[in-house]
Amino acid sequence: MKIIDKIYIDGAFVTPHGDERFDLFNPATEQVIGQVRLADADDARAAIAAAKRAFPAFSRTSKHERVAMLKRLHGAVLAREDALCDAIVEEYGAPIERARWMALHASDVLLQAANTLEDYALVRHIGTAEVVMQPLGVAGLITPWNSNAGFICGKLAAALAAGCTAVVKPSEMSAIQTRVVTEALHDAQLPPGVFNIVTGRGDTVGAEISSHPDVAKLSFTGSTAVGRSILRTAAETFKRVTLELGGKSPMVILDDANFEDAIPLALQAGFMNSGQACIAGTRILVPQARLREFEEGMVAAVAGIHAGDPRDPATHIGPMVSQKQWERVQRYIGIGIDEGARLLAGGPGRPDGIDAGWFVRPTLFSGVRNDMTIAREEIFGPVLSIIAYRDESEAVSIANDTPYGLQAYVCSPDLERAGAVASQIVAGRVLVNTLAHEPAAPFGGFKQSGIGREYGTFGLEAFMEPKSVLGVV
Ligand code: NAD
Repeated sequence: MKIIDKIYIDGAFVTPHGDERFDLFNPATEQVIGQVRLADADDARAAIAAAKRAFPAFSRTSKHERVAMLKRLHGAVLAREDALCDAIVEEYGAPIERARWMALHASDVLLQAANTLEDYALVRHIGTAEVVMQPLGVAGLITPWNSNAGFICGKLAAALAAGCTAVVKPSEMSAIQTRVVTEALHDAQLPPGVFNIVTGRGDTVGAEISSHPDVAKLSFTGSTAVGRSILRTAAETFKRVTLELGGKSPMVILDDANFEDAIPLALQAGFMNSGQACIAGTRILVPQARLREFEEGMVAAVAGIHAGDPRDPATHIGPMVSQKQWERVQRYIGIGIDEGARLLAGGPGRPDGIDAGWFVRPTLFSGVRNDMTIAREEIFGPVLSIIAYRDESEAVSIANDTPYGLQAYVCSPDLERAGAVASQIVAGRVLVNTLAHEPAAPFGGFKQSGIGREYGTFGLEAFMEPKSVLGVV
């Protein structure tokens, strides 16, 4: 049992004022593996006050000093890679290969931010003005459970690079991972109060951060429903807001696609992070003329997808993070069947031979219409929908017929054609024949997938505001 009974405020691990205890589970076994003592609104206020005190000095640090700090943070998180990977597998259930990537990503984003800042002009001359990019103030950073360490480090990296101080509110379901990350960040010995980490519930700690007048900036990753309420609350005090929300990403398979490439790509895009990914390619758009061929290939390929023990290197899909998520995914599988979609693989219940753990059968529907619930709503599990289209223009219109616009995929050997399709898709990122991440390029959504962009220069600028000074040059 891991007991986590401290939060991190003003450079120290302290006992929270909040005294609610929250159980932590291993989703692969359903066993309780720990307990976290949750912070409350008082703790959030203490963290905000610490960040406010630290801001004047920190905001005046030079670019050079902040690059050095980010590099120290990178080294410290990298040094905990193994411990973080273990915590990710144990508490979140990510398959080992994915967990390794996630643990490395957490340190990598800090280095990326250092590199971005190094090349960034904080002061420019425009006409007769000197334009200074000024940090916004105290930043509230709120993260979900599906990539907790990466989101903490990524948001913190951009905030600190900009010269903001921060209060982080990680998911209450990721307290063991958060503890590993916090210990690592503490090792980097930044000035007290520059970052504070308070694990607590969304409706207490999260709500306090979202409404507090001393918080100038909010960066939130999570569900569209919570994002909407944060945006409303933030309006009261005109906080600058970055929201990274849900998705229902299309994987557009063009009619000249080579299915030997397209099928593995579609499955990896759909089942990434055990399907618990905002960018998962869950709507697979396939030309009607080649539908049968594609379905046969997918069924054969899904038979080789292994859902089970996340520590087994042969596993592609781990458990859902919680019983609640498991039930949610089961409900959507039921809705798919009830609405008349054709079940090609998987279905309700656990995979064969597994009787404990929040495991889901890798599930594939075909005959899906884009107005069905399973094509419209984010399921956040390994459940994919094949939707047939007649021609390219219908493919584009189905791809765009969604309230979301986070990511899209296009698959075709003809890059000019794929590029033309990509240009018509309303999404923050379109990946052509690849799943590779580009850390320097902006990431974020159109429409109800969010507001603003993270990563690289765009992500850095989200924590700053330009100030024009006239008469000095
Ligand atoms: P969630 O919205 O329930 O919670 C996210 C965070 O917000 C948690 O820390 C939670 O405690 C906090 N929160 C909850 N209510 C709050 C409130 N009223 N005020 C302030 N904070 C509050 O989401 P989740 O279930 O943790 O994560 C899954 C969701 O996140 C999915 O919908 C997924 O699409 C989305 N997501 C988006 C991205 C992206 O980059 N676009 C990435 C990962 C996950």
